[in-house]
Amino acid sequence: MTESIRDLAFPAWPQYDDTEREGLIRALEQGQWWRIGGNEVNLFEEEFAQYHGAPYALAVTNGTHALELALEVLGVTRGSEVIVPAFTFISSSQAAQRLGAVAVPVDVEPDSYNIDVAAAAAAITDRTSAIMPVHIAGLVADMDALAKLSADSGVPIVQDAAHAHGAQWQGKRIGELGSVAALSFQNGKLMTAGEGGAVLFPDAESYELGFLKHSCGRPKTDRKYFHRTSGSNFRLNEFSASVLRAQLKRLDGQIDTREQRWPLLAGLLAAVPGVVPQRIDERTTRNPHYMAMFRVPGLSEERRNELVDDLIARGLPAFVAFRAIYRSDGFWEHSAPAETVEQIAARCPVTEEVFRDAIWLHHRTLLGTEQQMHHIADIVAEALAALP
Ligand SMILES: *Cc1c(COP(=O)(O)O)cnc(C)c1O
Repeated sequence: MTESIRDLAFPAWPQYDDTEREGLIRALEQGQWWRIGGNEVNLFEEEFAQYHGAPYALAVTNGTHALELALEVLGVTRGSEVIVPAFTFISSSQAAQRLGAVAVPVDVEPDSYNIDVAAAAAAITDRTSAIMPVHIAGLVADMDALAKLSADSGVPIVQDAAHAHGAQWQGKRIGELGSVAALSFQNGKLMTAGEGGAVLFPDAESYELGFLKHSCGRPKTDRKYFHRTSGSNFRLNEFSASVLRAQLKRLDGQIDTREQRWPLLAGLLAAVPGVVPQRIDERTTRNPHYMAMFRVPGLSEERRNELVDDLIARGLPAFVAFRAIYRSDGFWEHSAPAETVEQIAARCPVTEEVFRDAIWLHHRTLLGTEQQMHHIADIVAEALAALP
């Protein structure tokens, strides 16, 4: 063996230090462990809204609930239609379906894996109540084209920003783009309290309705059990908020590192025969890099799965891409479109390829050293060459 030993000890995830520890003790000793009467959720919302340039933020139980609440506040209801990319995590469509709305999948772009805006435009009907771009892996969807489509059609945008904490589109933060945005703080996300979510609101009216709905229809100060709207309990607790305040302080430094590493890794991966990394788009002026994604175009789903197993065996935290949402049984249980799988697949040819040939690496790889980026690309090349 002439090969030198590779250090594949990437930084661990999640990360924490005394800031989280002190936050948890602060919440504990505050003596109020829910947001009513506590400070941590309120302060986190202020800090998170300010960080994203949004007038208001509302902390909630998780990202799926954040999407559901965002859609409900925009008036999405039984019988309406919500346009979602076919290539995304299933929460994007489940949130709409939980409200009784039909989730209408549309195709994505082959190089960004983000919603194809022309396909979204073609799917608008008189029942469409929202369009949900997902900023895949932190690369922001074409928010200029979407803003124009929204203005022309009158259909509001809901950003699924579960991958996009701290992202910027043409110098604007995601809270400054004039639309509602939903984020997740699940264990693997770019900031985490194990579980958690948030909604960024562009105006006071939608925030206030969101607040009511996330707290059983009850205003902050109600003591008479007068519930102004329908709703549910999507409130975040004080412990989680104290951890998220600490995580937010660390986010910018981590994004800086990942923004340095990805162009290097993407360049190295692009030099591996058969590998095409997710596109770099200058219009995403800050990309937090939730995943390091690449395609091996033409690879079958079976071979791709073997490749991922081999990458894991060789020490990389590798994963298969999301399955096309319409290819899971759960998508069809209720509020599915009146089309067959084959019909949807026929109008989503790019999704049909991407979900089979794409691979992603955990974002903690991008917190590694420059040398480790070389190791990653070498390992991908070796594993690909070893495929039968
Ligand atoms: C993680 C994720 C969600 C859901 O967030 P949870 O906090 O896990 O409920 C929604 N959309 C996308 C694209 C995600 O990756």
